[in-house]
Amino acid sequence: MADADSAHKADLVAEIVCSYVAKNSIAVDQIGPLIATVHRTLSALGDSEPAPAPQVRAPVVPVRRSVQPDYVVCLECGFRAQTLRRHLRVQHGLDPAAYRARWNLKPDHPVTAPTYSRKRAAMARQIGLGRNRSITETPVAPRRRGRPRRATA
Ligand SMILES: [Zn+2]
Repeated sequence: MADADSAHKADLVAEIVCSYVAKNSIAVDQIGPLIATVHRTLSALGDSEPAPAPQVRAPVVPVRRSVQPDYVVCLECGFRAQTLRRHLRVQHGLDPAAYRARWNLKPDHPVTAPTYSRKRAAMARQIGLGRNRSITETPVAPRRRGRPRRATA
């Protein structure tokens, strides 16, 4: 069984080396090392030693680069936004606390861009935190009930 497998591998090596040599000019003394390299690569891909499943997933971007002044980056998928709260909940079913735990982040790791937070705070101050709300409300005309009756002569 192993013979068939290694024969298959040898075929594959020959195939790869041939197609490489056909497309690239290569010195004769480089063909040997090339075959060895291809063979090593294929062996590494083989099923003799299955690579252990990584326990810790690598974030899409380095954690320290995931927080920028104008946006924050989702470590799950690389999504950029001014705030990730909604994205985390909708796309990954995570709240900020679960997200931080999942990626071993500090408890104060921002999920909202610093400038966005500041802008929101400034905006809140500007509109007086919702005071004077009644002024902007337009009065709603009362609805008439039922069909209007036709005047009879
Ligand atoms: Zn995401």
